[in-house]
Amino acid sequence: MTEFFEVLDRDGAARIGELRLTEPVTTPARLDSVLVDSGSLWAADRGMPDGDDDALTILPHRSLPAGSREEVREAFETDHAETEFPTAAVVASDDPTPQGADAYILSDASGFVGHGEGFKDAIIGAKDALPADTALVLSGVATPRNVALLAYAGVDGVDAKLAKVKGSQGKYLTGDDELFLDDLDELPCSCPACQQPRAEFDREDCIDHNVAALDAELRRVRERIRTGRLRDYIEGQARHDNWLTAAFREFDDQYSYLENRTPIMRKAELSAATSDTLRRVEIQRFAERVTTRYRNRFDNPLVLVPCSARKPYSDSQSHGQFHDAIGYRGHTVSMTSPIGVVPPELELTYPAQHYDSVVTGRWSEDEKGFVANVLEEYLRRNDYPRVVAHVPDHGYREIVERVERDSDLDFEYTVEGHPTDTDSLANLAGALEGELKFSKRERQHNTVKAIADYQFGDRAGDALFGDIDIQTTGRYPKLQVRNADGDQLATMVPQYGLLAMTLTGGDRWLASDAPTKRVEIDGFVPHGSVLAPGVINASDDIRPGDEVVIDGPAAFAVGRAEMSGPEMIDSTRGVASTVRHVRER
Ligand SMILES: [Zn+2]
Repeated sequence: MTEFFEVLDRDGAARIGELRLTEPVTTPARLDSVLVDSGSLWAADRGMPDGDDDALTILPHRSLPAGSREEVREAFETDHAETEFPTAAVVASDDPTPQGADAYILSDASGFVGHGEGFKDAIIGAKDALPADTALVLSGVATPRNVALLAYAGVDGVDAKLAKVKGSQGKYLTGDDELFLDDLDELPCSCPACQQPRAEFDREDCIDHNVAALDAELRRVRERIRTGRLRDYIEGQARHDNWLTAAFREFDDQYSYLENRTPIMRKAELSAATSDTLRRVEIQRFAERVTTRYRNRFDNPLVLVPCSARKPYSDSQSHGQFHDAIGYRGHTVSMTSPIGVVPPELELTYPAQHYDSVVTGRWSEDEKGFVANVLEEYLRRNDYPRVVAHVPDHGYREIVERVERDSDLDFEYTVEGHPTDTDSLANLAGALEGELKFSKRERQHNTVKAIADYQFGDRAGDALFGDIDIQTTGRYPKLQVRNADGDQLATMVPQYGLLAMTLTGGDRWLASDAPTKRVEIDGFVPHGSVLAPGVINASDDIRPGDEVVIDGPAAFAVGRAEMSGPEMIDSTRGVASTVRHVRER
């Protein structure tokens, strides 16, 4: 049970936490001033320190060689659970055994920081073994340049030891570089230490600057985590040191480590500016769900169109023109890098209306391959009587032709010159002549079902809203789903294109065959939120931001998860889920 550390906010593996000392510390942070080391047991026989709430006390420790026998380890184990003050335990990354501490310091950090694969293995190993609601601390390795990546990987605490040593050696550290002080004509910083004339700036000042630069970078990192934009920063910043780029690519290859921790939706826009964006969880997850959960329910031909810079696409001028030509006679699916394909029912669903990409008209081979793959998978799962490709030359056309080669369907191409040219639009309208329009009712029902598929799992839309006589009310995108009696089951949330359930909807969800996201709680009635200690069990596939039903002997509720299902079970502190509606049993 951790009493003195709580995770308050999450952005992938990175988190904002609070170390509850007399003076609380918001993490990720530099912990030099609060870490008190009681020393190694190898050097001397040490009694239990007194400790207090002002500091994070590192209890006496012994680093044991890797592979030491179990009974040897147990004999040397320190019992943190019996202390009443904040404690940290020193563990080796190859044997990170939980000891009831509030924080864990990896003793071999200087061995793996600097090596992409080793760093990834050490961090994931430690995170898997140690409770989610404890702080992970690396000592003697942080620099202004690497600390953003350390936090991105899930590190909560660092110190300034290395930055000070480098300063004393005349190495001037910045967020992008390590420079020899003697080589600098100007100081590229305006911290207090750097205010003085260049000639008077000595190694003592360099130490002060390095610490200030580390602190500034940590402030930047915390702010990025709060706004859900740390990954955007990492993709650019990591370029300044190759091992950092290697490390974050290593983490991209560990999809489940990041996917478990990545929220279902965010307020912030996602910046798609590098080739690595294709690998990030939000992009991969959308593509995966569109090709394994989404199901087309229209009988009309597929019309492939290019995306627009303006989001949602249907608000753009070009898509307005496509719509005038198509007029609900075709199922208009947008092709885009880096998202893949976006069916119209999901055009509001995160991140489909939340990304901003660099528009040059040039497609990299990676982008073409990615979009072609998604389109191919999409067509394998969804049957269409015809495919009309209303796409421009260059990237788009090449991708569609690549997919057509492996398809049984003959694609019809309708663009001459530009997709919004009069001739092109006339071709598009002509291609759909004789096709029947689908109704507004069909459109709205298919939209809420498609979102349910996407959000809850394969076939969830039919299981939840299929075999009852549902009705939709309200004006798109603010749709409400109601049963035959008019009771509201769910609301579509336009900002994220996801569903929020009512209690009646929650009842129906639990009773249906749809995959549920269920949080089982103890015998209490939650108000506003459910705290992690009250959670008895939680579905494995719950992600931060997911819609959940909360079920216990005293209450039934619906709400939104603040942490993943595994973290809810693992944690003894923090808000597991917010509660929207609750009913006492
Ligand atoms: Zn400075």
